[in-house]
Amino acid sequence: MERKTIYLCLAHMSEDGVEQKYVKEAFDTNWVVPLGPNVNGFEADLERFVNGGDCHVADATRNDVHDGNTDKKVVALSAGTAAVHLALLACGVGPGDEVLVQSFTFCASSHPITYLGATPVFVDSEPETWNMDPVLLEEAIKDRIAKTGRKPKAIVPVALYGMPYDCEKIMEVANRYEIPVVEDAAEGFGSKFDGKVLGTFGKFGVLSFNGNKMITTSGGGALICDDAESKNNIMWYATQAREAYPYYQHETIGYNYRMSNICAGIGRGQMTVAQAHIDHHKHVQALYEDLLADVPGVTIHRQPANPRYDSNFWLCTVTLDPSLKIKGQENAYKEVIKTAVGGAAGVIHAVDTATTDCQPNENVEALRVFMLEKKVEARPVWKPMHKQPVYKTAPAYVNGVSEAIFKVGMCLPAGPYVTDDDVRYIVDCIKEAIEE
Ligand SMILES: *Cc1c(COP(=O)(O)O)cnc(C)c1O
Repeated sequence: MERKTIYLCLAHMSEDGVEQKYVKEAFDTNWVVPLGPNVNGFEADLERFVNGGDCHVADATRNDVHDGNTDKKVVALSAGTAAVHLALLACGVGPGDEVLVQSFTFCASSHPITYLGATPVFVDSEPETWNMDPVLLEEAIKDRIAKTGRKPKAIVPVALYGMPYDCEKIMEVANRYEIPVVEDAAEGFGSKFDGKVLGTFGKFGVLSFNGNKMITTSGGGALICDDAESKNNIMWYATQAREAYPYYQHETIGYNYRMSNICAGIGRGQMTVAQAHIDHHKHVQALYEDLLADVPGVTIHRQPANPRYDSNFWLCTVTLDPSLKIKGQENAYKEVIKTAVGGAAGVIHAVDTATTDCQPNENVEALRVFMLEKKVEARPVWKPMHKQPVYKTAPAYVNGVSEAIFKVGMCLPAGPYVTDDDVRYIVDCIKEAIEE
């Protein structure tokens, strides 16, 4: 039988098709708009979840029912990127301002800073979590104040691949300088620190429900807010900032960022399997840790032994020793790539060179190609933003950690579709790829 490609992380609907039930309800009741019962229900589910309750609210009409330790509110939006954008806006970020952001991330953490006419200031990572280094963060704050005479307007730490940042130290530094924190927990849905869900530590928390994330609404996101007033403010900006007149009256620039009732229906269904997804990702990580333990030159990225950390392991990642020889390595980067790596979104610029001045080592590229031939999607880890040409003029506080990991790191498949057999197959392929 021919093998199906094992993708990095794919959307996975519930076995009993609850998503379709909610979507059908939206059609049947003619709520095919960016508001409605599914949006409210999904927000109630999310509020319960982030506040420490379980995933699913059987009766979503019960507002504010949770048994957790916080009382955060959640706004459903059209994308995680929109959530970052509106969170920064609500922190008062505007033209000429600076925002401190983790460099080791996907571009959606930093691009909205530039949408607002502000400048991202990149902060490098600590080696344990691969996330924002709190010591470097404080150095950056001091130096920005010394250089510009002004405090950065916000701090954006990122739960890369689901791994929690050091919430205690990041919040401690942020509070000392009284700078609001926008937690980018887009990849860290359900990850916890000290038993508390990521996204509930800062002033705002960003979630993403893109097709490849822990749960999906096909595309979508949400912003975790402190209280009803903050939620209302975000909702207002997300619906074109209308004033309460009988006609359209605009005194502020708004955005069309509300989640559609159709997407929210998928989200409500996904909430019934969210915990199962998280458990499965953790299970896959444990299996990789076990099976890769005796593969020399390949190191699985683990969470710190400190029990305060509880990663969802959205993606599992490994690093390759630079001395490791992979079959076909001599041909790495010899050809210009015709399709984007994992280019699910489709639309990309064609490139005319096979290399850039900062790229993964040849053995990493060779392993990616080898795995692709084995029908396994493996992908380099995200390229740090301070090494991206588009941000070459942005200030950066670096310690070499993210750039070093970029050269040796690789993401492995981890979604709900990945079976134990798949993990064994993937590890066997990696062993086969290594030159004796
Ligand atoms: C996915 C992601 C986002 C938000 O993405 P959307 O696709 O707009 O939902 C933000 N930050 C990070 C780190 C992400 O991985």
